[in-house]
Amino acid sequence: MASRSRDDELVLLPLGGAGEIGMNFNAYGFGPPDDRKWLVVDCGVLFGREAFTPGVDVIMPDVGYLAEQRENILGIVATHAHEDHIGAIHYLWPTLRCPVYATPFTARLIAGKLEEAGLTQKVRVNAVPLHGRFSLGPFDIEFVSITHSIPEPNALAIRTPLGLVVHTGDWKIDPEPLVGEVTDVNAFHKLGDEGVLATVCDSTNALVEGESGSEAKVRDALAALIATLKGRVAVTSFASNIARLDSIARAARANGREIALVGRAMHKLVSAARDTGYLADFPNVLDEEEAAQLPPRRILYLCTGSQGETRAALTRIAADENPNVKLGPGDTVIFSSRIIPGNELAIYALHNKLAGIGVEILSADDHFVHVSGHPARDELAQMYRWTRPQIAVPVHGELRHMTAHARLARSLQVPQAVNVENGQMLRLAPGRARIIDETPSGRIHLDGQVLISEGAGLTRMRRALSFAGMIAITLVLDGKGRVVADPAIVLEGIPEPVHDAVREAVEGAVKRYDPRRGAEEKLRETVRRAARGAADDAWGKKPVTRVEVVVV
Ligand SMILES: [Zn+2]
Ligand SMILES: [Zn+2]
Repeated sequence: MASRSRDDELVLLPLGGAGEIGMNFNAYGFGPPDDRKWLVVDCGVLFGREAFTPGVDVIMPDVGYLAEQRENILGIVATHAHEDHIGAIHYLWPTLRCPVYATPFTARLIAGKLEEAGLTQKVRVNAVPLHGRFSLGPFDIEFVSITHSIPEPNALAIRTPLGLVVHTGDWKIDPEPLVGEVTDVNAFHKLGDEGVLATVCDSTNALVEGESGSEAKVRDALAALIATLKGRVAVTSFASNIARLDSIARAARANGREIALVGRAMHKLVSAARDTGYLADFPNVLDEEEAAQLPPRRILYLCTGSQGETRAALTRIAADENPNVKLGPGDTVIFSSRIIPGNELAIYALHNKLAGIGVEILSADDHFVHVSGHPARDELAQMYRWTRPQIAVPVHGELRHMTAHARLARSLQVPQAVNVENGQMLRLAPGRARIIDETPSGRIHLDGQVLISEGAGLTRMRRALSFAGMIAITLVLDGKGRVVADPAIVLEGIPEPVHDAVREAVEGAVKRYDPRRGAEEKLRETVRRAARGAADDAWGKKPVTRVEVVVV
C-alpha cells in the first residue's frame, strides 16, 4: 500500500447524483490539497424532460474542475452498465482522457458507445473480472458482487492509506436474483470487521419501507398472469433488466408462446448479455415478420418503451407505426416496470393510446409484475449492520431521499451521516468528516449534437418562448437618427387580439421619439418596453421582445 505524508487527505467530490437520481459521478481524491490524485466512480447521464429542458434529451455533469487537473485523474471505474452510471463516458472522455475499468458486461456496453462516438482507438477499456482487485496510485480497488436490475452490478471496496471506503453502487438484496450473483453478504461482513471509514450508499428507495422483493416472485407471478390471457401479449420492461427479460421469456414458454423482440435496445442488450455468458437458456427469438404469422395466443412481444419514450417500440405500436406488430381488442400490454418520477405524463399518454385501440393494460399499479432494483429501508439497515462505518454518505438521490437516508443511518448508530451536494468536497479523513470546499459544478446539456453548459441559458430562453411567444421589431433610421419607415413587427405565439395593442404601442413610442434626445439605444429600449407593457396590459404576459435598428 502507498505510503502517506502528513498533508494527505481523503476526499469525496460528487459532481452528479447528489441531488438527483441520475447523472452519477463521484470523484475520490487522495493526497495533499495541491496535488490530489483522483479516482472517478461512474460517469452517467440524466435524461432531459420536455417541460424543464425543452430540446435537450441528455444531461451530464460539468466536470471542468477535474479536467483542470487532468494529469491527476487515474481512471474511471464503472460500477454497472445503467445509463445513469456509464452514459456520459463517451461524451466526457475527450475532457477527462483517462483509462476506464469495468467488469466484462459493462465494459462491452461502454465499448459499444465509444465505437459509436469514434473513440475506440483512443480509450483503453480494461475488463476487470468479477471479484477483481487492482491498484491505481494510492487507491486499492476491489469489486464486490451485489444484486441489482442488470447483470454484473458491483460495490467497490476502496482501500487507501487513510481508510477503507465502501461505495455500494446501486444494489438490493435478493436471495433469488435469477441472473448473476446474490449480494455478497460475507464480503460486506468481512469489510466491516476490517474497519470501514465510510459507506457511500444508494438512496433511491430511502423513503420506501420494508424490502424491495425478489425477482423469482415476479417470474412466478408473470407466468400465472400470462396463463390467463388469450390474445396477443406485449410486455415492456427496461432492456437492461436481463433477469426480467429471462423471466418474461420463461413465462411465455410456460404458456406456449413464442418470443419476438421489438426495439433496438432489446436486440442490443440481449446480444450483449449472450456474448458475455448470460441468457444461456433464452429461447430462440422470432423476427417481427415471423411473429405476425402466428395465431395471437402463440406470441409474446418483448418491447422497449416502458417510460412512454416517443421513439420507443411500444409508442410506435400504439400509434400503428410498426408495419409488423399490430395490437387491438383482445390483446394485452403488461408494463413490467416502475414509473420513473417525471415520466408519468408520457406513460399515461401511452396507456390512453393503447386503451383507445382496445388493448387491455396491466401494470404495477394493479398487478405484481415488478420489483425495484434498489434497497428499501430494511435493506439499507442491513448494509449499515454489515459494514459498520464511521461515516455514512448518502448519494444517488434527491435531497429528500438523501436526508431520509442520513436520518436512518444515524438511527442505526452510525457516528456521522453527512449530506453532500454536487460540487461540495467532503473530507473523509483525517479528522471528522467535513465539507472543506465548494468547487464549480453544474450541468452540461447535449443539445442536438452540441454539448453546452446549462448556464448558457438556452433552455431557460426556450421555456420563456414557449410560455409567452416572441415579438420582433425592426426600426429603420436615416443617418440623422430620424425614423424613415413604419416599424416592421413580427408576433409569434401571441393571440390575435393582443396584436393591435402591441402595434399601437410601438407606433406611439416611435412617433414620440425625438432624434435629438439621444442615441438609437434609447429608442430601442423605449420601443421594447412599450411592446412588452402593451402585451402585459392586454394579455397578462410579457413576451420575449427583440428590437433591431437598421440605419440606411
Ligand atoms: Zn443502476
Ligand atoms: Zn443508478
